[in-house]
Amino acid sequence: MERAVVIGAGFGGLALAIRLQSAGIQTTLVEGRDKPGGRAYVYHDAGFTFDAGPTVLTDPTCLEELFALSGRRIDDYVNLLPVSPLYQLKWDDGTVFNYVNDQDELERQIHALNPADVEGYRRFLAYSKELLEEGYVKLGAAPFLSVGSMLRVAPQLVRLQSFRTLYARVAHFIAHEKLREAFSFHTLLVGGNPFATSAIYGLIHALERRWGVWFAKGGTGALVAGLVRLFEDLGGTVRLSAPVAAIETEGNRATGVRLASGEVLPATIVASNADVTHTYKTLLGETERGRAEARRLEAKRYSNSLFVIYFGLDREVPADLEHHTILFGPRYRELIAEIFRGPELPEDFSLYLHAPSKTDPSMAPPGQSAYYVLAPVPHLGAAAIDWETEGPRYRDAILAALEEKAIPRLRETLVTSRIFTPADFARELNAHLGSAFSLEPILTQSAFFRCHNRDDVIENLYFVGAGTHPGAGVPGVVGSAKATAGLVLGERGTRMAAE
Ligand SMILES: Cc1cc2nc3c(=O)[nH]c(=O)nc-3n(C[C@H](O)[C@H](O)[C@H](O)COP(=O)(O)OP(=O)(O)OC[C@H]3O[C@@H](n4cnc5c(N)ncnc54)[C@H](O)[C@@H]3O)c2cc1C
Repeated sequence: MERAVVIGAGFGGLALAIRLQSAGIQTTLVEGRDKPGGRAYVYHDAGFTFDAGPTVLTDPTCLEELFALSGRRIDDYVNLLPVSPLYQLKWDDGTVFNYVNDQDELERQIHALNPADVEGYRRFLAYSKELLEEGYVKLGAAPFLSVGSMLRVAPQLVRLQSFRTLYARVAHFIAHEKLREAFSFHTLLVGGNPFATSAIYGLIHALERRWGVWFAKGGTGALVAGLVRLFEDLGGTVRLSAPVAAIETEGNRATGVRLASGEVLPATIVASNADVTHTYKTLLGETERGRAEARRLEAKRYSNSLFVIYFGLDREVPADLEHHTILFGPRYRELIAEIFRGPELPEDFSLYLHAPSKTDPSMAPPGQSAYYVLAPVPHLGAAAIDWETEGPRYRDAILAALEEKAIPRLRETLVTSRIFTPADFARELNAHLGSAFSLEPILTQSAFFRCHNRDDVIENLYFVGAGTHPGAGVPGVVGSAKATAGLVLGERGTRMAAE
């Protein structure tokens, strides 16, 4: 009988486990931490609920599909609430742009900044829709195992100018610098530098316009809990606080996993949702294959890390603060270059501020409000920063800036706060170099050039999550699970449950 073990309960691991279990394969999900979710971990402090990671949910259909596989409905497990504006963008000079899902309102605001850009924006939107169709709808859940698979899509990639950077393509259509930032910053949400990442990521704009932005009632953690409940309702097993020490192999086959406790879980299918470099270097470190692949992966470029502050205030959300706010700092191109290349922690920052109490007051005690703020920062290999000492200083600088720009009286109403640094990404999540999003999503590290959804040598070893195709972000890793499940089930002649 087939038995699968999936290592890691991030969105990718959960989605894969659900797909395998839905197809009748007895699946065990093994997570090192005490809660599922991975980057989407949850902290409960002083009555506040803090989602640790993903908060902007796009494309709910990729989640609905996981429930529909077994004839269930997502609404019976979790309630998704629409968020509007999708984001509010703010610059230091006081300019505010409400990034809404309404053509007339968008055009009115673009016109106010630069009338000539209205037409350019329409052309960018048409281009973005084409990217969405080619890059996400058609290829977002396709495994790229061979050079041939890459060559087959090359003509479309060339036609869509995906060899250019996203910023360059946006600048081709739009002239005003702030609008260029407004339509190119999204790659930062999936670990991409808009000045280096392929223009294919311009699809995110059309994705958001098509499906909107959603928030799970009770927080992203409620969505994770819903996925776990679905998996268990299907008969799957979740093991928490069970870090995997090694993937056991015999020749070119994986035979199971060995937990740090010494317990061995035998399996005919092993899939890793853990960091890809950690998987090869540590979990397969006893094998020649693991060591060789780890060396190859270590030579690649990794996404930036993040510095995150979760905090609760003894006040309600300011009336003029939206659920998702991007606070652009005084520099854009130069700041991003320093975030991706180091060699030091920049003194200025661009921030993403999450205020979930705006949409869902249950995230905080009555009369209070929950937040997190994040700043993209260099990963551990790009800048030598001692986060033990730097963390508290950086936190104070960011909270002072937030008080000035977005939340009056922040520090006098502060009830609780905690920080998460690049060192925590490495320690808590086994993230190589503390990267928040795994391999950097540049063209030469995408699709066939990313970690494959099935190992090239160990024939029953699979991968899912941010380090595989198509990449980071919730829709990305849920798409990677579809690609991986397609390989597992297709190879076993099982009916493709995903269809
Ligand atoms: C702060 C932050 C904000 C973000 N915001 C958004 C957003 O708004 N929208 C969006 O779409 N995306 C967002 N992202 C990106 C998105 O969260 C991630 O790309 C995605 O959740 C990664 O999922 P994953 O499946 O790759 O697994 P991960 O979440 O990385 O989970 C991997 C799991 O493997 C476990 N693991 C590792 N090693 C072992 C081992 N040896 N044994 C057992 N278990 C192990 C880890 O503990 C972890 O639980 C954000 C990311 C961060 C960090």
